[in-house]
Amino acid sequence: MYFTFLAPRKYVQGRNVLREAGAHFSKVGKKPVVLWDARVKALVGERMLSSLKEAGLEPHEVEFRGDSTKAEAARVAQLARDHSADMVVGVGGGKTLDTAKAAAAQASVKMVSVPTLASTDSPTSSYTVWYDEKGACQGFESWGVNPDLVLVDSQVIAEAPVRAFVAGMGDALSTWVEAEVVHTTRGQNLAGGRATMVAMAIARLGYETLLQYGLEAKRAVEQKVVTHAVEKIIEANTLMSGLGFESCGVATAHMIANCLPGFPECRQLMHGEEVAFGVISQLCLDENMPTAEMHRIVDFLIALGLPVSFSELGLEGVARDRLKSIGEVCAGSGSLCHAHPFKVTPEKVVDAMIAADALGQERKRKCRAKAE
Ligand SMILES: [Zn+2]
Repeated sequence: MYFTFLAPRKYVQGRNVLREAGAHFSKVGKKPVVLWDARVKALVGERMLSSLKEAGLEPHEVEFRGDSTKAEAARVAQLARDHSADMVVGVGGGKTLDTAKAAAAQASVKMVSVPTLASTDSPTSSYTVWYDEKGACQGFESWGVNPDLVLVDSQVIAEAPVRAFVAGMGDALSTWVEAEVVHTTRGQNLAGGRATMVAMAIARLGYETLLQYGLEAKRAVEQKVVTHAVEKIIEANTLMSGLGFESCGVATAHMIANCLPGFPECRQLMHGEEVAFGVISQLCLDENMPTAEMHRIVDFLIALGLPVSFSELGLEGVARDRLKSIGEVCAGSGSLCHAHPFKVTPEKVVDAMIAADALGQERKRKCRAKAE
């Protein structure tokens, strides 16, 4: 197995960088197809389009229909071909970016990510997570190449809902926790290779950045302002977590998180919120986890307001029987849970989730008592 590291060709982050979108895009191509929904266009359309015009680019706008389905990606790819586009630009959340990535790969053109939320790992990665028309997850697919450009306007991120920013921290926090497991067992990253030292250092830096600046950044985003802490967390959520998960690999936290949308009660949750509970479950499953470190992570998730118990996931009083299906998927063949240096069984996964719920509740009581 080779040491493999994946990354986008260029990453630019800063306040009002979208006002210079044209200058950045024109280094990638001349005829962009811009994929966004009406809400995102209302938010950033004017400043982005006027910058593209100034740079002499001819954008063709396509309205995103809401889910990253195979049909939607094929539709956008066809429009890119029909308009002889040389790049597809995704502007919005993870699903818009994932669809833009798929369409760009299918039309054999370049790809630009413009995330308007710092809520997922999508912007830098080579992956598309597929959904069906009903919104159920259908697995993921790599395009073998990462975006040609990732443009992140910190002002836009700071003005987006704070819930998305915090969910992004839940997703980002899992990166090191999972990377360490995969590294210990010499497991594969998402390119089928082994993690390089650079990838491990990035994952670790992301973890430390979150613990150090996470709460301060959340406070600033509640006021819709950009501070140095906000810039650091945008970088942790988007660049460090994106490079880290893809080039280091993922494990149980993401396996459990990806099973949760199967429960109708969890449909309103954001990906990073599900990952937060997945992280605690993985910590409870892990035989090598020091208790102090575990409490530090859980207390941080509580301070951020991320879900740490069944009731916060909408699963109050969930029966053990209902969790069994998650245990079976996690212990099944091809599961990412096999990255651990011990055998993962369905019973162990269910036990870990129940232990996570109990731990989350107990730490919450302790945190509350401390605050009073
Ligand atoms: Zn994730």
